[in-house]
Amino acid sequence: MTTITARRIAAAWLSLLLVCLALGSLWLWPDLIPERANPALFKLALLLAMMGATGLSAIYLLFRTWSIHAGKLRRFADSPLEAEIDFPNDGPQELRELSLAMKGRAERVRQVIGRANLEESRLETILAAMTEGVLAVDPALRVVFCNDAFARAFNIRTPLGDSRSLFEIVREPALRDILDRVLQKGAAERDRFQLPAAGGRWFEAHALPLGNGRATGAVVVLHDITDLQRQEQVRKDFVADVSHELRTPLAAIRGYTETLLDGALEDTNNNRKFIEIILAHTIRLNNIASDLLILSDLDSGAGPGAPERVSLREVIASALHTVQSEAALRNVQLKQGEMDQCSVAGYRFRLEQALVNLLDNAVKFNRPGGEVSVECLHAENGWVRVTVRDTGIGIASEDLKRVFERFYRVDKARSRPTGGTGLGLPIVKEIIERMGGSVQVESQLGQGSTFTIMLKAN
Ligand code: ADP
Repeated sequence: MTTITARRIAAAWLSLLLVCLALGSLWLWPDLIPERANPALFKLALLLAMMGATGLSAIYLLFRTWSIHAGKLRRFADSPLEAEIDFPNDGPQELRELSLAMKGRAERVRQVIGRANLEESRLETILAAMTEGVLAVDPALRVVFCNDAFARAFNIRTPLGDSRSLFEIVREPALRDILDRVLQKGAAERDRFQLPAAGGRWFEAHALPLGNGRATGAVVVLHDITDLQRQEQVRKDFVADVSHELRTPLAAIRGYTETLLDGALEDTNNNRKFIEIILAHTIRLNNIASDLLILSDLDSGAGPGAPERVSLREVIASALHTVQSEAALRNVQLKQGEMDQCSVAGYRFRLEQALVNLLDNAVKFNRPGGEVSVECLHAENGWVRVTVRDTGIGIASEDLKRVFERFYRVDKARSRPTGGTGLGLPIVKEIIERMGGSVQVESQLGQGSTFTIMLKAN
């Protein structure tokens, strides 16, 4: 543009020079060749030449003015949108109008870009705040975007470099498959899979094509369902365990009843024994049913009304009273150790249930002449410690970490005759944890066990 303008200026000057030369020659011609000259013709030519020169100068000046203002406009148009440049509002009328139109357009473009930037930052914030992992790929399965949740799940360092293939970043055939299917079909796909690259977690994946019609890529949203999957498994296991636990007493009751009906009713040597076995299994069924009810009540999460202030001394005395006859029957001595005046916030009957379960076990898994002692003391930082100690059979170290699992019994044969359900300790754990406390066990096989409950004092 600049070169063209310079060339035009030079051409104009050259023309002016030639015109001046021609004028000079015309002026001098009658003097040089007087006999052939016609003064009127010369003057006419001179006049025309002067008019030509004036016109040329005017054109040149006009052109120069346009060129200066057009340059200003060009600088304005070339300037970055964010730069605060005064828009040119002088010069010829047409250029002023053009400049105004450009200013309006620049303002609209600025608004559109502003809106797009706002939209982009909103989208970025939403994607960053999402707990679901989001990954977008182009048709060649090169990663174009992934959010923080995705990067965290797969331990990827962000920002990603340009044009990195999906397989370079996440070696997961299941993820590649779902994106491949979406790119080929151009339709949404859902799947559920476990991804080893994300620490073996389970994901519900929802993949969609990007763009309308022809897919310009695909995006997949990964929803972590590991906990859900685990809960489902726990529920399935629990149902299987319950059915299994019910089957044994039910089979025994049915078997002995059939035996009695088949004639054993008249067998005076055995009939009483058979009926006692049926009774024992019925009691066991009853215990399982009531423990399951307690657990389901605890699992529902709702408490029976507002928590109350519970005196631990009173609860312990009442629990000791409950197991007293069983202890006497087994010749186990119950002892009250040190008893601080402690109280906690919770539900009295639930706390009593937990203590009865612990004391009942301490008596059941004891020996004749054995001992069970309870104490309740203030601990540091506003906590209360309740200890149930026995001199019983103890628990082997490999079983210690499992005794709080539902239906876990160290020795099933030994637990069953005592009416054990394997739900006593899980109930204790559930009750104490729902009160914001914790329960722990220490034991030495053959020497005895100590269960310690920690609760916040009230
Ligand atoms: P159960 O109904 O069988 O008593 P629990 O959940 O209360 O079920 O206890 C689980 C298992 O832990 C028991 O079967 C028993 O083997 C073991 N256990 C619990 N308390 C004691 C204890 N004080 N001494 C020895 N073993 C215990």
